[in-house]
Amino acid sequence: MELSSRQEKIVDIVKADGPITGEKIAEQLQLTRATLRPDLSILTMAGFLEARPRVGYFYTGKHDSEALSGKIRRMLVKDYQSLPVVIKENVSVYDAISAMFLEDIGTLFVAGEDGRLAGVVSRKDLLRASIGQQDLNAVPVHIIMTRMPNIAVCRKEDLLIDVANRLIEKEIDGMPVVRDADTGLEVIGRITKTTIARAFAELATVHEI
Ligand code: ADP
Repeated sequence: MELSSRQEKIVDIVKADGPITGEKIAEQLQLTRATLRPDLSILTMAGFLEARPRVGYFYTGKHDSEALSGKIRRMLVKDYQSLPVVIKENVSVYDAISAMFLEDIGTLFVAGEDGRLAGVVSRKDLLRASIGQQDLNAVPVHIIMTRMPNIAVCRKEDLLIDVANRLIEKEIDGMPVVRDADTGLEVIGRITKTTIARAFAELATVHEI
């Protein structure tokens, strides 16, 4: 629910000085009690304020939680995505492990010959491949990767909270941010659990309660 600027002011006054009577609020706004009556009843009915007879108006805290959820719903992938690391599908498992260390990254995206998203390789995919007897230089990553069309992807206009929920539901650490290209999907970014942790921490610093 969107509050008018006068309703916002009333909430601020009650937050600062509540419990406070309607008369006192009207005084602070230099308005009559009658002018404020509709705003006060809207704020009370909507649950922002609570009215106690002979005591006055109390602030319920609803406004802050609505503001916080509104803020979360405005967080978009494009404002939080980081740079992806994309390797070619013919790269060996050995080189993929080296890339993971060099780039200090937990998930590698794999592109086909055409440069389009072909798969994803995680830390455990590489560990699993490493405990067998095979020559890691001889096995290309496309053999061990999770491949399209089974890759969970997101787009830059998606809500970060929706991506967070999909990471939880699919039990994965990250997903590529993609855009449509002629022959498939082009990887343009990545969102990981670290991205979500950073966004969560940021909420505590920018959110004023
Ligand atoms: P780890 O395997 O290191 O625990 P994840 O939990 O991210 O890392 O990966 C679990 C499995 O899911 C792996 O086999 C990986 O290839 C796959 N995977 C990772 N990211 C995605 C994704 N975005 N879409 C589909 N599968 C994925």
